[in-house]
Parts: sequence; C-alpha cells; structure tokens
Amino acid sequence: MIYAEVIGDPIAQSKSPLIHRHWLAGLGLEGDYRHAHVIAEALPAFLATRRADADWRGCNVTMPHKEAVIPLLDALDPLAARAGAVNCIVREADGRLTGHNTDVDGVAAPLRAAGAGRAAGVVIGAGGAARGAIIGMEAAGIAPIAVYNRTVDKAHALAEMAGGSEALPLSALAPGAGRQVILNASSMGMLGHPPVPIDLAAFPAETIVFDMVYAPLETPLLAEARRLGLRTIDGLAMLIGQAARAFTLFFGAEPLRVDGDAALRALLTGEPVT
Ligand code: NAP
Repeated sequence: MIYAEVIGDPIAQSKSPLIHRHWLAGLGLEGDYRHAHVIAEALPAFLATRRADADWRGCNVTMPHKEAVIPLLDALDPLAARAGAVNCIVREADGRLTGHNTDVDGVAAPLRAAGAGRAAGVVIGAGGAARGAIIGMEAAGIAPIAVYNRTVDKAHALAEMAGGSEALPLSALAPGAGRQVILNASSMGMLGHPPVPIDLAAFPAETIVFDMVYAPLETPLLAEARRLGLRTIDGLAMLIGQAARAFTLFFGAEPLRVDGDAALRALLTGEPVT
C-alpha cells in the first residue's frame, strides 16, 4: 500500500497523521500516513532506505531536520531553496527526492482567502517559522514587509533574505499607514510564554491579524483582535494549509475541504463540530 509519513525528533506530538488520514478516508483512497522517529544521525540511512521503497510517496519533515535534509536530496523546489528549509520530501517515480516548503502555502493560502493582497506586512519573530512566513506573505501579494524581533540582528538577516524588507526591534512595534497584515511567527502567545506586546487598538479597522501559534489556538493576540472586530487567521489555518499542499504532492489528489475544515478542526482540537 502506498504511504507517506512525518519524520522528526521528537515526533509523537505531530498532528500530521490525524490530518492526512482524515483526508485519505474522506476521499476513500487506499493509502496510509504514519509517523517515524528519526534522530539526526539516522537521517542519511533513513532516506536511503525509503528512496528504494516504491510504495513510499515521501514525508513531511519537522524539527530538527528542516535544514539538515537539504544536502541529502536530489532537487529543491524554488520556494524551498529560497526559504532554506524543507518540510516536505517527495519521492519521484524514478526514486529521486525533491524538497518542498509547503509552510509557504500554509501562510499564503489563508491570506489569499481573506483577501489580504495589497496590504503592508508586519512580521513578528525571526526564527524558522518567520522565514517561510515572509515568503508566504510575498506570494500572497503583501508588500512592503517589516520584521520585528527581540534580537534585532536576526531580523536584519531575515529582511536581507527577503530583500526590500525593514528590520526593527520588537520595542518599535507600531502601526504604519494603510491596510496591514500582522503575522505573529514568534513563540510569544504560546502556553507559558508572554503575549505579543502590541496595541492592536492603534491599528486601522481593516487590519488582518494572523497568529501561527496553535497551542493555545485562541492566543491573547487573536482574542484581542476579535474583541476589536479585526479579521483573524489562526495557527490551525496554517497547519491545515501546509498539510493540504503536501497531501496533493504525496497522493496526487486535492483533499476534500468543506465547511471551513470544521470536522478536521474538531478532530485536531478535540472539540465537537459546531
Ligand atoms: P524559533 O525558531 O525558536 O523562533 C522563536 C522566535 O520567537 C524568535 O524570533 C524569538 O526571538 C521569539 N521569541 C521567543 N520568546 C520570546 C520572548 N519571550 N519575547 C520576544 N520574542 C520571543 O521558533 P519557530 O520554529 O520559528 O516557531 C515559532 C512559532 O511558530 C511557534 O509557536 C510554533 O509553534 C509556530 N509555528 C506554527 C506553525 C503552524 O503550522 N501553525 C508552523 C511552524 C511554527 P529571538 O530571536 O530574540 O530569540
């Protein structure tokens, strides 16, 4: 039976098997999606074995391997090359391995769906997630983009990669002019972390607030945005969006996505469908 999987260290926490199995069942496709615990030292041997397995369609790649897999692949999709990170490896029919970055789609797709084009971007954070976030914002037509980070040197490095972006310290977070998309790609707002220090009330009413954090799903940033009547995009929109692109790459079919992914969201949050 054909299959794909997610690899990482640790891996038990990954929600990818739940998502892909939900879509496989929804389409009635014969296939499986598993998880595999792979430590850094085992990566080359793991990929060599899988490359020889014609049933293996590929794998998602999570921490800490998103950069380490790159030299082990035969080709890189241009977006993955730009991001300098791979979260999805696809086995071609001849056994060649191509690296993709579907986190970029995970950011761009919900932004497009929210009609976010022709807005300026505010990215908070400059870690691994922020890299894909900026490329996803660009793909959705957001420009110019300002990067705010606690460690401003890291924001500079990211702004340089994006080209034409501005880098600023977190303490300078303030509204610019016109329509804006605020994207939190930092760990702030996660359980046990401080909230994002931003005064959303100072931003225009058409501001869109996107939080990549999904534990908790309702972060202080999103709760405040909703209180102010601003449009919001949550971390599950990104998680599901990146998985949808990977599913198509692995299984050659678009997942069935209905009612704003209500059933899948309920499965992922353990809450009943409303
Ligand atoms: P990372 O590489 O460790 O980067 C963490 C970022 O958060 C850095 O910019 C760091 O600033 C900043 N930060 C951490 N604690 C802070 C604090 N107390 N005050 C100010 N800034 C702080 O992590 P990552 O991989 O980029 O992930 C970031 C977040 O994105 C996580 O919550 C992750 O769960 C989420 N994420 C979500 C998805 C999704 O599908 N929804 C996908 C990927 C990631 P410094 O540079 O100053 O340390």
